[in-house]
Amino acid sequence: MARIFVVANQKGGVGKTTTTVNLAAALVRHGKRVLLVDLDPQGNATMGSGIDKRSLERSVYHVLIGQADIAQTAQQSPSGGYSVLPANRELAGAEVELVDLDDRETRLKQALAQVDADYDFVLVDCPPSLSMLTLNGFCAAHGVIIPMQCEYYALEGLSDLVNTIKKVHANFNADLTIIGLLRVMFDPRMTLSQQVSAQLEQHFGDKVFRSLIPRNVRLAEAPSYGQPGVVFDPSSKGAKAYLEFGAELIERLGKPS
Ligand code: ATP
Ligand code: MG
Repeated sequence: MARIFVVANQKGGVGKTTTTVNLAAALVRHGKRVLLVDLDPQGNATMGSGIDKRSLERSVYHVLIGQADIAQTAQQSPSGGYSVLPANRELAGAEVELVDLDDRETRLKQALAQVDADYDFVLVDCPPSLSMLTLNGFCAAHGVIIPMQCEYYALEGLSDLVNTIKKVHANFNADLTIIGLLRVMFDPRMTLSQQVSAQLEQHFGDKVFRSLIPRNVRLAEAPSYGQPGVVFDPSSKGAKAYLEFGAELIERLGKPS
């Protein structure tokens, strides 16, 4: 059975896509079969996996509105070694079109059920909003991975996100839990980073992953080469941190929660 995780945070630019793409590549390095679902009309995870969003015949949009299935639509990331259900700006239309369709929250869940045996992990990259697209991610998933920057405003949006996850848990998907909070773009020289990081540990305890993703320019450069940082420069600090994070996630799933 595939473990399905959404990478979500309604704040923009906090490292969701970088985390999804690099975790996917890291899990492949750890011998796992991975499908990355790009649920963001920006298509950054698609491009960062080396797939051109401008020349897609089919995309996750067609899957959500019932015009294609995942097996017909997914492509292999040439650089990352995982499958990608790609997205482009066409997906923005799904937000509106889904409103009139039956089971609009569970479209992705139903589509993923058909490929459940083909993957060990499905990772869903969400847009920076708590929209119908993100809701489809939450309804399909077993858990949420929340990337967080350790800065003053980071904690502010977190309660909205946690409340949304609780509502989805209560109304749509009793399986949904927070798998963990991942500290990203971490700068250990900043006192503020240390303070916010300590606050997170106080509030969320074990839910904070041990792995810390440092701010690392190689991770930021990799997408312009259509590669995950883990592949682009495996010896960089950022790549090593994501590989370690992949191992921690696998270890965590092995333990009873
Ligand atoms: P959006 O909300 O727009 O989808 P996002 O949450 O997916 O954004 P990313 O696109 O992953 O965020 O990251 C935002 C920017 O920060 C990108 O330019 C990315 O390359 C850069 N970045 C992400 N993580 C790191 C890191 N650890 N070190 C350096 N740069 C990073
Ligand atoms: Mg993104």
